[in-house]
Amino acid sequence: MILDTTLQHPQAQIALVISRIYNRGLTTTSGGNISTIDSENNIWITPSGIDKGSLTAKDIICVKSDGSIIGNYKPSSEFPFHKAIYEARPDVKAIIHAHPPALVSFSIVREIPNTNIISQAKQICGDIGYAKYELPGSEMLGKEIAAEFVKGYNAVIMENHGTVVGGKDLADAFQRFETLEFCANTIIYGNQIGTPKFLSNEIIDAFNTQIPEPLVEMLEVAHDSKEREKRTEICNIVNRACKQGLMISSYGTASARWHGNDFLITPTGISRWDLQPSDIVQIKNGEREPGKIPSRTTYLHQQIYESHPEINSIILTQSPYLMAFAVTGTKINVRTIPESWIFLKDIEQLNFGYQYDSAHEIPNWISKEKPLILISNDCALVVGDGLLQTFDYLEVAEFSAKSLVMSSSIGKMVPINDEQTEELRKAFIK
Ligand SMILES: [Zn+2]
Repeated sequence: MILDTTLQHPQAQIALVISRIYNRGLTTTSGGNISTIDSENNIWITPSGIDKGSLTAKDIICVKSDGSIIGNYKPSSEFPFHKAIYEARPDVKAIIHAHPPALVSFSIVREIPNTNIISQAKQICGDIGYAKYELPGSEMLGKEIAAEFVKGYNAVIMENHGTVVGGKDLADAFQRFETLEFCANTIIYGNQIGTPKFLSNEIIDAFNTQIPEPLVEMLEVAHDSKEREKRTEICNIVNRACKQGLMISSYGTASARWHGNDFLITPTGISRWDLQPSDIVQIKNGEREPGKIPSRTTYLHQQIYESHPEINSIILTQSPYLMAFAVTGTKINVRTIPESWIFLKDIEQLNFGYQYDSAHEIPNWISKEKPLILISNDCALVVGDGLLQTFDYLEVAEFSAKSLVMSSSIGKMVPINDEQTEELRKAFIK
């Protein structure tokens, strides 16, 4: 099911978002609550004490503007702070509160995650507020949190408790929630292997000026069967990546070669969780499908397809363990286990800014042999023959990065040596 904040009933929207949050391991069965306020000022909210793993639309409670309650259960015990935020900030129409592990880590050491690690994260989360500890469910907690929203923050760390984020709708709030937890994870993992580096506000502000003009629109568009097949394939891979935490709503691009150097690519500005085949953008003879805006990285994909006939698909994403290396500049050594080295070889990391100043040179850094590079404070770029192979490389890389982060607390990694890699090359590569 896709999230449609324009036409879907609030109950269906809330049930869908809570299931995504629960299935991604970002809330427990009992913890967390979600609400949205409709055009008649009714607040729709998750019920109190009901299993988050099996909530359905009909379980969602409506608290009418006159205070009367419609539903089979009691509204969430944290209803007071949801109400306080809506009263304080009429532009906030949806709220997500939960205790996701990485943000709780920040809340218990009483720190705010610095979202300047990646441009998009800062732009989506903004500066983060901080609400002092108060009794859960109390009016005082509501006051503390609402006071932070009044200051203009859309995301707040709750001291020794968790986080609360607001948005103009549930899709906006979910994207902010997911992005903030991603930042927190990346900073935590980064600190285990090095020191995270942060981008300045000036660099982040300049980010938007770096967006190239979209390609010109083609006059007529035709969709052959292979083209339609690729659209579905891209949507399936992107959805799978979101479910596995390898991609988040706000960032990530996938493309697949179609005929010659023509290809299909994900659009810009649409949640990765909700991509539909009709959202995918066709790029043919250097022109884009009319009425659609393809990913801002379309030129890069085009250059890679033109210079590497053997590459048929590309994924750009920010997965938390790989990004821990990309934000610290720590070398990622995938001579960990045979599979990792056979698939990925030795991974290069390009400096931040390279993707703007020297974008045309990026194809020189990748090949079928060396399918993954990292760009500091930006992304992981992975290529392959088909989309599934590219996705597999991404999974292998993220697993390897995870093992390296985890191993850092128990000992020094001993890599497979040159002789052993040579033996692997002869046995498995050529
Ligand atoms: Zn809570």
